[in-house]
Parts: sequence; C-alpha cells; structure tokens
Amino acid sequence: MTENHQPVRGIRTTAIHAGESPDPVTGAAAPSIVMSTAFVADAGTSFSAEDFGDATPYLYTRWKNPTVDQLEHKLAALEGSEAAIAFGSGMAAVTALFLYTLKAGDHLVISDVSYAATAEMTNELIPRLGIAVTKVDMSDPQNVADAIRPNTKLVYAESPSNPILRLTDIEAVSQIAHDHEARFAVDATFSSPIGSHPIRLGADFVIHSLTKYICGHGDAIGGAILGTAQDMARIKKDVAIRTGGILSPFNAWLIQRGATTLPLRMKAHEEGALAVARFLESHPKVIRVIYPGLPSHPQHELARRQLTNFSGMVTFQVRDGARAAKIIADRLSVILYAVSLGHQRSLVFYLPTSEMLRTSFRMTPAQEQSYRAFAGDGIFRLSVGLEDPEDLIADLAYALECI
Ligand code: PLP
Repeated sequence: MTENHQPVRGIRTTAIHAGESPDPVTGAAAPSIVMSTAFVADAGTSFSAEDFGDATPYLYTRWKNPTVDQLEHKLAALEGSEAAIAFGSGMAAVTALFLYTLKAGDHLVISDVSYAATAEMTNELIPRLGIAVTKVDMSDPQNVADAIRPNTKLVYAESPSNPILRLTDIEAVSQIAHDHEARFAVDATFSSPIGSHPIRLGADFVIHSLTKYICGHGDAIGGAILGTAQDMARIKKDVAIRTGGILSPFNAWLIQRGATTLPLRMKAHEEGALAVARFLESHPKVIRVIYPGLPSHPQHELARRQLTNFSGMVTFQVRDGARAAKIIADRLSVILYAVSLGHQRSLVFYLPTSEMLRTSFRMTPAQEQSYRAFAGDGIFRLSVGLEDPEDLIADLAYALECI
C-alpha cells in the first residue's frame, strides 16, 4: 500500500513520472526490478503483519516490495486516489475487497451484469460465507435504492459493464449507498483511469484489472484496489498480506511500464473504436452496435457526463451469431479471436446470451428482459487495439462479407 504524495500535474506527465525516480545508486533512469523476496532487517523487527504500517521497512515481498510500491504510487496518482494496493489479478483484488467489506450476516448489492468470474463468485461462494447477495440492473439507480436493506454493507457496480457496456450513474448510486451507510465500489476496468473517475464522483473504492488497459500489452496479469489511505492500510494488513494474492515484482514492472503510455493509448483506442463502431453501425449485416461514444447508445448522455474517454470496447450483434462467429474467426487476419481486452492487439470474442445467463448472470425474468432489450441475443465483444483503424475496418468488412 502506497500513499500518493505527487503534486498535481498533467495526466501524461503523471503517467510517466508518478512513482518513479532515477536510481539513487546507479543513476538508472528507468525503474529497476527488485525481485528479492527478503530484505535485510534490523534485529528486533516484528515478524507479524499485526505491526505492519507505513513506517515498516522492506522485509518480505508479500508485505511490500519497491517495484510494486512504484506501480501503486503511479496508479493512485492516475486515479487521483489517496492510495492503491496491487494484487496478483483483478479477481484477487475483487476477492480482497469482498473480504474486507463483508462478513457473515451482511448484504451485498451488485450489478446484475458484471465480469463472469465476479458474477459467478457472487452466485455461490459469497452466499456460502453467510453473505446475502442481491443482483440489480444498475442502469436505473432506483433499483439500487429498492434493493438496499439495513444490513447492506457494500454496493458494487461495474461500469461500463463487461460485456454489454451498460453504464451506472456513479454519482447517483454513490449517494444512495452513502445515504444508507453502505460503502460503494466501482470496477472501472473498461474505462481505465483515463476514462472515468469514480472516486471524484463519490465512490469509496475503485477496482481495476491491471491486465487490461493499464498494462496494455497483454503480457502481465494484475489487479488493484484504490481508495483512502486508511482503507488501503487496513486492506493491506488484514487481507492482502495474510491471504497473499499479491502482485509479482516482475509483473508490477511490466504493468508500470505499460501505464506510462496509458493516456496516449486510451486516446488512440477511443479514436479507433469510434471509427470501427461507426463502420459497424453502417454495415447491413450488423443489427446492433453498442458503444458509449455513439449517440445511439441508450445512455449516451450519461456517458458524456461521466466518461472522459469512451475507451476501446465495442459490442455488436449479427443474425445467427454462433454460426457467424466461426466464419468471422476464420476470416479475420488482423483482429485475433481471443478473450481479454485493452491490449495493443485487437481482440474479438463471441458471447452467447443464454450461456452467459445460465453460467454467470442468473437473472430474474425482469432483469433478463432488460438485458435482452439492451444487448439482444448473442454478442461479439470487440476490444479495439492500436492498429490503424482502416486495417481493422477492412478486416471486419472481409469477415462480415460471408456471414
Ligand atoms: N473486472 C473486469 C471488468 C474484467 O473484465 C476482468 C477480466 O476480464 C476482471 C475484473 C478480472 O481481471 P483479471 O483477469 O485480471 O483477474
């Protein structure tokens, strides 16, 4: 856990310099990787995380590590939060947040559409711990207000949501959560710290899968929680050190290197995604395109108010998607048919609605109706990378020709 003491600077300067300084011994301008798991300590140093605090020296990498510290500084500076803690994956961060904020007898209100593993964790594992879960369509803040109970301790949104890019009004839901003394967390992986600012809009915690835009190059898995110094200090001690889902220094180094170009990359992702989304919207074989930057997105006005970058994620639909997926996967040559997102390489993956509903979302009939009205049946999730948009459009045009 590292607190952010950086002066306020432009976002590009922040992305490059926050958390970094030339090596005081060698003068190396680029950050070094400290892979050591153990650090020489003074005799009498505590062996228990119980005594862990800001002043604790480096002792053991599961507690803290200089390379991971650098990344945490940079993340906090990018988000404008007091502090950040890095984890071994986005899911390790989500798990740590649940363990920190919830206990047996508590109640969690969560978006009915969220990343599959998050949704699946709240189907069985979280209820097994004695925590009640209510899934709501968070595109209407009133649904959150209606779901809150006296024992609701956490409201958890994913915005834009994976995979349908539905948005939550973060300011409104934050108000509702706080009126009921619940904490409010937002998984903002899809927008990155460049595209949304949940803490400024009132959230207590932000989750990022660092694996996606922040790393940006598809070669390191990581996650983070961002929030106040007080919360992060407690999460660090009570959960991260003791449950051990921490980030490796090597991955921290790769991710911090990726993060230095995040503002520039997000600009290019947005530019490419807008061009591709407009092309898809004009294509006769495409029956639906969902992109927050298009006026046709049902929440475009909210997107304009709360997002500062529309990001690179585009969802689209064609008739008989499952059959089309095979053809599209075979004919694409620039865009890779693969999971994940936020990389420099464009990636596309087909998600059949009924399977997602069965395995992950498990919605009420009303929620399913709202999901289908928003996203239709069967969607392609396209992560627009950093290639020339004309090449992506040509690739998609060729693939769509034969469906
Ligand atoms: N949150 C969102 C929105 C995601 O899309 C993902 C992964 O795709 C995660 C969390 C989990 O992140 P990770 O794969 O780094 O564990």
